[in-house]
Amino acid sequence: MSTTKDFQVTIIGGGVCGLACAIALQKAGLSVDLFEAAGAFGEIGAGIGLGSNAIHALKAMGLFDAVLAKINPASFRLGVFCSIQALEPMNSSTKYAHPTIFVQRCSNPSYHYAVFLDALVGLIDPKSVHFKKRCTSVAPSATDPDRVIVTFADGTSHETDLVLGADGVRSKVRDFVVGASEPQRVVFSNAVAYRGLVPHAVLKQAGFKTTLTDRPACFIGPDRHMIVTPLKNGELVNVAAVTARYDVPMEAWAPDTPWTADVPRAEVQEAYAAWGSDALTLLACLPEKVLKFSMHVVHPPLESYARARVAILGDAAHGMLPHLGAGAGQGIEDALLLFRLLTHAQTKKENLPAVLTAYSHVRRPRSQDVWEGSKRAGMIYHLRGPSGATHEGIRKDIVSGMWQTVWNYDIDSDIVRAVEHLQASGTFAA
Ligand SMILES: Cc1cc2nc3c(=O)[nH]c(=O)nc-3n(C[C@H](O)[C@H](O)[C@H](O)COP(=O)(O)OP(=O)(O)OC[C@H]3O[C@@H](n4cnc5c(N)ncnc54)[C@H](O)[C@@H]3O)c2cc1C
Repeated sequence: MSTTKDFQVTIIGGGVCGLACAIALQKAGLSVDLFEAAGAFGEIGAGIGLGSNAIHALKAMGLFDAVLAKINPASFRLGVFCSIQALEPMNSSTKYAHPTIFVQRCSNPSYHYAVFLDALVGLIDPKSVHFKKRCTSVAPSATDPDRVIVTFADGTSHETDLVLGADGVRSKVRDFVVGASEPQRVVFSNAVAYRGLVPHAVLKQAGFKTTLTDRPACFIGPDRHMIVTPLKNGELVNVAAVTARYDVPMEAWAPDTPWTADVPRAEVQEAYAAWGSDALTLLACLPEKVLKFSMHVVHPPLESYARARVAILGDAAHGMLPHLGAGAGQGIEDALLLFRLLTHAQTKKENLPAVLTAYSHVRRPRSQDVWEGSKRAGMIYHLRGPSGATHEGIRKDIVSGMWQTVWNYDIDSDIVRAVEHLQASGTFAA
């Protein structure tokens, strides 16, 4: 593998995907600058689950040992990545109008997002990181069409050979990739999550009967599901109560749907009024004000993740519903292919547009499949799954349909297909 290249890489956005890509490229000897809008690397969520696909990608980029060193080894259960070990409907009721189905979800192990990010932050060259740099646009340089100019909100700009946009679901870099005349590709998904924390002791005192383990559990029912995650050795319970509307297509929602709002607890209690007693007890224990989080996604799918010398990865390219816990994993897979392509012996400044086209050609179908799977997972939870709303149907869809294709993916085939694509176009020698 070559360790020096005749081009500079600029990454916009220092979330998990931008950081992973930047570090892997730096480790291989490439010149990388990372521009982040915030004043520091930050926390955007409570937990992040990594499937075997993401673990393999982190390993292939030489980053996994650092993550492993930061987490509690007891939380790292090898084997859970590829299979769902337990799926026991409890408190089952055949009356779906009053659902009390409880699914013990055993998906990927979850690490605190900040811990995961912290592990990566320690690996990046601090001199290459530029904070408080909010990108407002990218465009070909006026003086050299083979260079790209990045403009920031503070009025400064930066010229470079290649831009990778990892600036999240509200990406500015995406605007260039999609084209100025195109409508924005970020829409309200149809799903809302109400989030709050409840002390476990308060729950018990209120008469909550369901036994919670150390793994996230999920109450499911028509157009609603509730993920309940024990925190701090079970002292606290994190509740994410999701509601969805299927009568309005995603693209038909008003573009100004607020992303977050503090709302009275009564709003979520009303949304779940038909549910069983344990679910209602749980919601009654939430704080009087809860955070309402309207989930936004990238939709309709982009025709390409690359244009000229600019590409996007992670949520910027395929921001998806969180129901599979797979969004970051897809961005990490993107980062791996970019790393492998940009460090390839035949990649040079001159052929970067073709190399980014090959990246898009391979990553787009894979990540869009997972995007669709995430939407389907929500529908399964909401008793709209392909195998129907019986316990057997739900079990079949969750056990055999939901995670396997996400986790059991041959990430090494990505580079093979990308190189074949480059050889077929004559960019790379066969
Ligand atoms: C409730 C919930 C649960 C989830 N659970 C999981 C899970 O278990 N497993 C999983 O794999 N995924 C999960 N996801 C998805 C996952 O969080 C995202 O897919 C992942 O964080 C995306 O990473 P990213 O680096 O692409 O974007 P982000 O994490 O959004 O990072 C973008 C970065 O770019 C910066 N930025 C933004 N705009 C600009 C700009 N204009 N200029 C410069 N910098 C900018 C931001 O400050 C930020 O640091 C979940 C998501 C949600 C909402």
